Amino acid sequence: METIRTIAWMKELVRQAHAESRIIGLVPTMGALHRGHVALIERAKQDCSPVIASIFVNPKQFGPNEDFSKYPRTFDKDQEKLEQAGAHALFAPEAPEIYPPGFSSYVNVDGLSDRLEGRSRPGHFRGVATVVLKLLQIVQPDFAYFGRKDAQQSRIILQMARDLNLNTEIVVCPIIREPDGLALSSRNAYLNPDERHAATVLHRALEAARTELQAGVRDALQLQTILHATLATEPLAKLDYAEIVDAHSFEPITRISKPSYIVLAVFLGKTRLIDNLYLEPKPSAPDELDIHL
Ligand code: AMP
Repeated sequence: METIRTIAWMKELVRQAHAESRIIGLVPTMGALHRGHVALIERAKQDCSPVIASIFVNPKQFGPNEDFSKYPRTFDKDQEKLEQAGAHALFAPEAPEIYPPGFSSYVNVDGLSDRLEGRSRPGHFRGVATVVLKLLQIVQPDFAYFGRKDAQQSRIILQMARDLNLNTEIVVCPIIREPDGLALSSRNAYLNPDERHAATVLHRALEAARTELQAGVRDALQLQTILHATLATEPLAKLDYAEIVDAHSFEPITRISKPSYIVLAVFLGKTRLIDNLYLEPKPSAPDELDIHL
């Protein structure tokens, strides 16, 4: 697996792959790779060759009081994992390669970027959309793979791809979890043993909501009450938000009757974790839901 540091060299490899009519897949990451990232690579390999992973800790998506400088960086291990997973190339530019002096163009996906994660992390999605558009421009992939773990981010990228007529198909892949239900995240590395134990409360809250949904509950307020009650059982957990939203607009809804998300953001100490449950009425029986945990 080749590691590529410059945009010029990345573009040259892309030019060669296109000349051979190959299907290019891109898996953008910030490194500190785990099984969730590996699952994206494996999914990409089903459709594409070459599969290009990127590692770039994007300074523009971190707020001034966020964890950019201490974000986990495990580059050598990441390279090994990507090699083992069968990625064909790794694009790992330094920040000045992506944002040279004088850089001044940004992408804003209005509306969607202001809610939930966007409200808690002002400017976050502007940074995400900008770097993802740049990566898509550089790598020109036929397919790009994102995790549903970051549901709002995936939705924003889909919207950007549609609005800006990008040639890349965006593929959103399922959440990969630890055996106890905690969604894998590079930020889980920040948790001390007590916080790690308490962090399962996100999954427990979603499971409690799932039980209600399976019993036929569709009222958002009732579901929210269950979420809050479950989260309140964990003294180390501090709620940022727990909402039930339309899967398209990410606006709050009062009743589940179309594709929706239950979205959670919770602090364990200084570490902020997110998780979600995706709900999809069955086309054949709209009163019944497919529940994607
Ligand atoms: P990150 O390195 O955190 O920026 O994540 C890179 C990609 O991996 C994003 O598309 C994430 O949504 C995805 N991802 C992160 N964690 C998971 C997970 N537990 N399951 C599936 N995808 C994930």
